[in-house]
Amino acid sequence: MRPQTVLAPEAPLIQALARGVCPICTLIRAFQNAMLEAPYRYPAVSLCNFHAWSLAGASPAVEAVRIFRSMLEESPVRSNSGATGLYPCNWCVALREQENEKLAEFAREMKRDKFRGWVTEYGTICLFHGRRLIKILPEPEAEVIRHILASNQKELERQLAEFDVKVRRGEKGGAGVLGHIAEFVVSQRGLTR
Ligand SMILES: [Zn+2]
Ligand SMILES: [Zn+2]
Repeated sequence: MRPQTVLAPEAPLIQALARGVCPICTLIRAFQNAMLEAPYRYPAVSLCNFHAWSLAGASPAVEAVRIFRSMLEESPVRSNSGATGLYPCNWCVALREQENEKLAEFAREMKRDKFRGWVTEYGTICLFHGRRLIKILPEPEAEVIRHILASNQKELERQLAEFDVKVRRGEKGGAGVLGHIAEFVVSQRGLTR
């Protein structure tokens, strides 16, 4: 299930709570979408493969031109330094900062009974963000996350076994479970690391 509303890139964590999705992934995706829709707000002179191709394919052309121009101006071809090292992607760096802020916000919210109660009962967290949260949360909140990861995993294993039976019988449908498992093991689609 997906949240129906379009989230603002700076939306508070509580707005990203929805059954069946990792709220940290949801907010990072919203932030990444905002970058692609309005790249002028996130200037970059260096981009990774994924973000350069996303800019080329999904951003307003006038903005893509501006960023690619500055990337070409900054490129090692023009400089005499002879540097051949890889430069960090400006957008990946911004996304990591946003991710760290949202993980810290999650840790703060876990002190509130209402938030912790909802997360305990309905929460979904991907493995990557779950492990990051376990590292920064004290006990017993870290145990809540371990419990969520274990029950998410158990449910996915059950769905995968069901799907396996269907596939072997040659039945169609139910392939959505493969996407849910990918989301669980490597975070939502298109999130770089
Ligand atoms: Zn996640
Ligand atoms: Zn990047």
